[in-house]
Amino acid sequence: MNTPPLYDLNTIKYAVDDGMWKRAIALYEGGKVVDFKETVNEYTARVLGGSPYRVSVSNKSVDRGDCDCYMGQQDELCKHMIAVAVYAVCDGRPLALEEKQHISEPVYSGIVGDITEEEMKELKWNINAGMRCIKSYEGPSRTWFAYQNKLDEGCARIATAVATVPANAKTAKLLVNTLLKLDTKLATGGVDDSNGTVGHCMSGIVEVLLSFADADPMCIKVFKVLEGKKTCFEWQEPLVRYMKNRA
Ligand SMILES: [Zn+2]
Repeated sequence: MNTPPLYDLNTIKYAVDDGMWKRAIALYEGGKVVDFKETVNEYTARVLGGSPYRVSVSNKSVDRGDCDCYMGQQDELCKHMIAVAVYAVCDGRPLALEEKQHISEPVYSGIVGDITEEEMKELKWNINAGMRCIKSYEGPSRTWFAYQNKLDEGCARIATAVATVPANAKTAKLLVNTLLKLDTKLATGGVDDSNGTVGHCMSGIVEVLLSFADADPMCIKVFKVLEGKKTCFEWQEPLVRYMKNRA
């Protein structure tokens, strides 16, 4: 067993898009990561692709490393580096289905009903883990891509948490509060959302809340706090309209 890196599986997953994640997992699960070794600062391995690639990944940050494939030579994060990072975290063990799932947009779980206190605690923890990735941008410009990646990770963590949530008044309230906190981050928190990642995630949560309202009308009264609110892109408008149409 190697010393685990400073990042976890979710950090690796959300550093890349769904396509690259799937290709990296296929390499990992196909036993293509061989000769895995650990040094003080990094992990090294060979990854059997079109030809065997020599790969190294830092144990502190998944986007620091080397690979002699085409992308790696352009200094870009490649599927071989991701596969080696996954190996560093999981040590060759099979991955569970939910570990492999890459969810980047909030979707409704399709479930109606109550949630236990324990589940609510876990849900809040997961949403907060996403929230912590959505921070103010203080430059310089060369760190802008790393910053946008962090926003992607934060939104994907929130989306992954939301995808498990059953519709009820308690969870609706939590999602409305999540939207209000994200709105504050955009309006006054110094978040640079030029890529629209956070805004897109918020619109996705609004869609989920509309599905909640269809599934359980008790969710609708939670929208009341949004009436007359000034928000950064009027994202609350569909929710308020829904409430008024049902009144
Ligand atoms: Zn590579």
